[in-house]
Amino acid sequence: MPDRCPVCNQDFQIEPGFYIGALWTSFPIVIFIMALLSALLLIYLKMELNTFFITITAILFLLQPIIIRLGRAIWINVFVDFKEES
Ligand SMILES: [Zn+2]
Repeated sequence: MPDRCPVCNQDFQIEPGFYIGALWTSFPIVIFIMALLSALLLIYLKMELNTFFITITAILFLLQPIIIRLGRAIWINVFVDFKEES
């Protein structure tokens, strides 16, 4: 993760532990993905429960880098306003 925004020079290291709070923004994303996958794999594909847990763990593990960044982006947007450059 870069220290500053390359576009607007916003400091991304606002304070130590700032992104611990991003837990609360990435968690609902994970729940949403899990709900969608559960419906798809269990109801439509009628997947075995053990296979389902292995599959969902693998998928979420692979999506983790994206989910973390998305959660952090949402988190910093709660505290820092984005202003269009004029
Ligand atoms: Zn920026």
